Amino acid sequence: MKFVGYTEETKEQDRKEWIDKISVNYKNHFVKAYSGKARTSAVKAKCLDCSTYDSAEAGRCNITVCPLYEYNPYRRNLVRRKNQS
Ligand code: SF4
Repeated sequence: MKFVGYTEETKEQDRKEWIDKISVNYKNHFVKAYSGKARTSAVKAKCLDCSTYDSAEAGRCNITVCPLYEYNPYRRNLVRRKNQS
């Protein structure tokens, strides 16, 4: 579904402007996610966006009702590290 007046060009321009605002460390997740071929990058990008671009904060996420909670790679890495120690 597309909004009236929202074109492919508008979408690309919006995404370019969004990526321009993101730290260079995380741009790649967004570029891959926008390609439509990298779901893991899409989850990483959303979790970073949700956590003010702080991966440690994303790892401490306790919003269990979030549909991405079980897929949050930052939280999963933290759980894995705790289980190894
Ligand atoms: S899993 Fe947590 S950090 Fe990721 S989008 Fe959901 S609420 Fe945000």
